[in-house]
Amino acid sequence: MGRILIEAMAKINLGLDVLGRREDGYHEVRMVMQTVDLCDDLLFDKTDRTGIVIEADRPEVPADERNLAYRAADLLMKKYGVQGGLKIKLKKRIPMAAGMAGGSADAAAAFVAVNELFELGLGLRELMDLAVRIGADVPYCIMGGTALAEGIGEKLTGLREIPECAFLIAKPELDVSTKYVYENLHADRLTSHPDIDGMTDAILAGELDGITQRMGNVLETVTAKAYPVIEELKNWMKAHGAENALMSGSGPTVFGVYRQIGEARKACGLLRETGLAVQVEAVEPAERNRISRL
Ligand code: ATP
Repeated sequence: MGRILIEAMAKINLGLDVLGRREDGYHEVRMVMQTVDLCDDLLFDKTDRTGIVIEADRPEVPADERNLAYRAADLLMKKYGVQGGLKIKLKKRIPMAAGMAGGSADAAAAFVAVNELFELGLGLRELMDLAVRIGADVPYCIMGGTALAEGIGEKLTGLREIPECAFLIAKPELDVSTKYVYENLHADRLTSHPDIDGMTDAILAGELDGITQRMGNVLETVTAKAYPVIEELKNWMKAHGAENALMSGSGPTVFGVYRQIGEARKACGLLRETGLAVQVEAVEPAERNRISRL
């Protein structure tokens, strides 16, 4: 096999809590992760030349070793002494610097593709253990679905698939750096925390209301405070049929939860007309990346 296409899915955080800052500077988190059907396409080809080449469809995507897909492939190829090279063609759809783990999703795809193309024979667990070296969200992006992430995000517990619902996703015209948000978070001064245990119970019980009632993200104390458009988008969604709305990750992307994809699509059309966001999508939850061996 010389070629593999992976549709690498984005994630949202139904809940995000920060417990504190560790000595090494990382934050201790508890997050409820959900894969959504909004994906980057990555086409991986084996080549005779040594080295990794990235071709991205957008100039703002780094096409060298700064790209997380490059770093993931390079780590695995060097570790296992792979002969030959790799070409990665990347079609970007996941909004960047947006709190949807776009770079991590691409890195996760690269781990899976290199393992298959070069027949390294690694199991998912082994790939996930290596993946944390590229980023705290990369192990989750390999696993996908609905999960509780603890530690720095790498300790994962798979949960039950969430009940039927849909998400309206809106990225305002801002780039937010995850690093900036965590650096400006006062974890010791947070006055309220989302009920993550209550949310995981509601997921296990299959109760959508129990999930939406407990949505919360402590990083809003930094990002939403700096950018009022986040609260505006949340209010707009709640006034247009969403059960609830929240910022994802470190933002600025906001998502609303709808009971049916039809309702989310209707709101999607209306929200695009407002100009509040540069990218607006109606999507369904997903279980895992789609992989085609060509
Ligand atoms: P997270 O939700 O994990 O915080 P994010 O949405 O904040 O992710 P990304 O879109 O993953 O952020 O990437 C942020 C920065 O990382 C980009 O501005 C870009 O320079 C760099 N980057 C590296 N690799 C990629 C990639 N494959 N796709 C997009 N950005 C990448």
